[in-house]
Amino acid sequence: MLNEKLHSYIEGLISERNLLLTEMENYASVHNVPIMELSGIETMLQLLRIHHPQKILEVGTAIGYSALRMVHVLPNAQIVTIERDLERIQVAEQFINRSEHSDQITLIKGDALEVEDAISRHAPFDVIFIDAAKGQYKKFFEIYSKYLNNDGMIITDNVLFKGLVAEPVIETKRIRNLVKKIDEFNHWLMSHPSYDTVILPVGDGVAISKRRGESI
Ligand code: SAH
Ligand code: MG
Repeated sequence: MLNEKLHSYIEGLISERNLLLTEMENYASVHNVPIMELSGIETMLQLLRIHHPQKILEVGTAIGYSALRMVHVLPNAQIVTIERDLERIQVAEQFINRSEHSDQITLIKGDALEVEDAISRHAPFDVIFIDAAKGQYKKFFEIYSKYLNNDGMIITDNVLFKGLVAEPVIETKRIRNLVKKIDEFNHWLMSHPSYDTVILPVGDGVAISKRRGESI
């Protein structure tokens, strides 16, 4: 991870978001909603500006913050996003409806492990963004990578889990098990024959996996 000083320096250079997004950031902070960290999301948005996807699948809407940030930089893109938590779904719908980009976002309500049929109707996707239950990352990847375009990209958040993946000893059993799962996912992903992956130490750790096309 970047040291704290540099991290604050970089975050201090990032310009303020608009009123609605700032309100969402405050809501997330007050209600402990784990929206993507600023440096992580800025990195992802820059990749999206370069890749200019038309269709994105997001696993883990929370209150709709990352989805709204994505449509802000991609005015022609459609985002399909999955959330299972009823309260967060309600809050997300309210925030999304207040945005002028609401017609670009389709919220699928349910567990990402169970809504494959609904998602497949929106396929294929140019980008898949995985940002939900950390213990299930491999499953999300396996289910939804089927619906990724040939030259598509999969972005996965929280792969460094506050740096814990590099800690030799973790006291709490629940956290230790979760770290083990993320570490296994990272190894699996880094050696996946169909993807080239880089892990960036920004935000909470962001993996960028680019699908290897048919031809070189
Ligand atoms: N992408 C959001 C943050 C997502 S936080 C942003 O940056 O703004 C992770 C969200 O994933 C939580 O709201 C949680 O309820 C949801 N989630 C976790 N596991 C899920 C699953 N299996 N199916 C659907 N949603 C899930
Ligand atoms: Mg996250």
